[in-house]
Amino acid sequence: MARIEAKDPLAEYKARRDFAKTPEPGPKRGKSKGNSFVIQKHAATRTHFDFRLEHDGVLKSWAVTKGPSLDPSQKRLAVMTEDHPLEYGGFEGVIPKGEYGGGPVMIWDAGTWEPIGDPDEGLAKGDLKFRLHGKRLNGEYVLVRMKPRKEDRGRQNWLLIKKRDEYAGDGNEPTQEFDTSVKTGRTMDQILHGESAVWTSNRAQKKSRTVRKPAAQKARAAKPRVASPVRKGRRS
Ligand code: MN
Repeated sequence: MARIEAKDPLAEYKARRDFAKTPEPGPKRGKSKGNSFVIQKHAATRTHFDFRLEHDGVLKSWAVTKGPSLDPSQKRLAVMTEDHPLEYGGFEGVIPKGEYGGGPVMIWDAGTWEPIGDPDEGLAKGDLKFRLHGKRLNGEYVLVRMKPRKEDRGRQNWLLIKKRDEYAGDGNEPTQEFDTSVKTGRTMDQILHGESAVWTSNRAQKKSRTVRKPAAQKARAAKPRVASPVRKGRRS
């Protein structure tokens, strides 16, 4: 019974979190062979975009400080982070303040990815080429590992770069263009306060799965919607 397992890729994910306190999924490894990808906007100490590619039953992960770009001249720093469980790809919500990565998490883009060449070789060599099929990001990208420096203290710094193709565009910054969830249509503020989206189109309405609280609904109907600065920074 007590068999020594091969190195658990989710050991670090597990060690960093208290699952009694965070709503994040547990460290369960999934079946391999899928090819999903997800990009989660995460307002932790600093807002960043977590870029995750499904590979070998886990999500290989990078924190992209400035977010992915569609402009091939932009080389975006992507710091490799611990492997995440597959289930994490469906996670949108709030990590409690004081916990690891405390702050709201939004599913900013999702879809499938397609390696160009052998992905294991690409990961090992630090030159991973792939194609994304997302709602907001499409086309070819490359993740290139930078030479390690002493000041990196063991952190792996990669660069996420868009290749020139029909989806590329100079100055095209989808992270500035889109600020809602592809899953629920919510803004970061709505996620933070546990609210549902205010849908404006019929098509979007059908997709809405969350139920608005009656009190919030009444308040919204009673007065025109104005940004209320008082709410900023309030925790739900
Ligand atoms: Mn993060």
